[in-house]
Amino acid sequence: MTPSTYDKIEIPAEGKAIRINGDFSLTVPDNPIVPFIEGDGIGIDVTPVMRRVVDVAVRKAYGGRRQIAWMEVYAGEKAQKLYGEEHNLPEETLDALRNFVVGIKGPLTTPVAAGMRSLNVAIRQRLDLYAIVRPIRYFPGTETPMKDSGATDMIIFREATEDVYTGIEWPANSDGAKKMIEFLTREMGVKSMPFTEDCGIGIKHVSRQGTERLVRKAIRSALENNSSSVKNPRNGHDLLIKDVIADNFLQQILLKPEDFHIIATLNLNGDYISDALAAQVGGLGIAPGGNIGDGVAVFEATHGSAPKYAGKNRVNPGSIILSAEMMLRHMGWREAADLILKGVAGAIAAKTLTYDLAKVRASAIKPLAAGHEHKSAHEVEQDVQRLLPGTKLVSCSGFGDAIIHHM
Ligand code: NAD
Repeated sequence: MTPSTYDKIEIPAEGKAIRINGDFSLTVPDNPIVPFIEGDGIGIDVTPVMRRVVDVAVRKAYGGRRQIAWMEVYAGEKAQKLYGEEHNLPEETLDALRNFVVGIKGPLTTPVAAGMRSLNVAIRQRLDLYAIVRPIRYFPGTETPMKDSGATDMIIFREATEDVYTGIEWPANSDGAKKMIEFLTREMGVKSMPFTEDCGIGIKHVSRQGTERLVRKAIRSALENNSSSVKNPRNGHDLLIKDVIADNFLQQILLKPEDFHIIATLNLNGDYISDALAAQVGGLGIAPGGNIGDGVAVFEATHGSAPKYAGKNRVNPGSIILSAEMMLRHMGWREAADLILKGVAGAIAAKTLTYDLAKVRASAIKPLAAGHEHKSAHEVEQDVQRLLPGTKLVSCSGFGDAIIHHM
């Protein structure tokens, strides 16, 4: 049952909740309530731009028949201000994300206090969002290190609930580490630990159940998306599954990226692979992501909260906007999602770029003077005009305008 009231969260009167069906498909009303977390730092810059772009795409695609009823829910610093210092991830936020099924979030700062875990990891674990999904797509106009940038077109399904990231670990010289080492060497007969002094221990646990549900999701996506390299039984062909060892895979994605489309991988390897592939298409700064369970999903900007840029209307909103594109597709609102892709592709192709994208392009032609990280926006713009004539440097909201213009 969806609750009718919360303490600080205001449920929009005009919207309805999305429902999960027995087969984990979704029933999406025309006015779904979508919870969003604004995010810390540059969340205040990118999240409002994302909402505006999504609203325009939905209006343009469905002419007023469909509309998102946004519902703000709180995490990170904003939650601490509202609920108190101890509450950076309030229970009612998790409850709302679970009950309203599909949500989106800006970046959250990881608290530095000892023992505090990443809020992003906590959200994945508490909501059992077991697949971290990262589409890797090249937008012409983006600089990449590849000769054939468009050859890389993949979706990564990274397992999110197992492996070394669950934090079952003990630092060197702790009681826990000493006990584990004693257990391993005495009881389990482990002889292959060369140094047992000053040795930390972390557990890598991987189960059949955890693996199967992740791989099942990846295969389903391959079938639903009619993946071109995957031979599809729905078209009367076989589904081809390639088993590749991680180190070889990292080689093959550079040598033959066109051979791979849907990737199912472990949590730690998936982390490396996601960043390597995003860099390969020149899209590390605009890479989108979704954390998806059985129905429930939280889409997110993949970059951090970049506090030094907060409130300056400078950073690139591309990551959270493309995450919203994934969200619309997850909801079955394909036409609106397609418009967002068209808008982002159009803005980049027209050389309407935020400073980070422009800097990448400029540095690909000729490295900017040392220390360019410390240049002002105006100085960067001068460099860009010198190195890339015709490029229009835009702000965070300006990039949103450009996306809307190109939809
Ligand atoms: P960061 O991604 O916040 O910033 C690193 C640098 O990347 C910035 O200084 C900036 O130059 C650039 N950058 C990041 N986002 C950008 C954007 N949208 N447009 C243009 N440039 C952008 O990484 P960090 O400094 O290591 O982390 C800051 C905080 O964010 C930490 O607390 C970290 O734990 C957290 N974090 C959160 C997430 C998340 O919420 N998913 C992810 C990574 C880091």
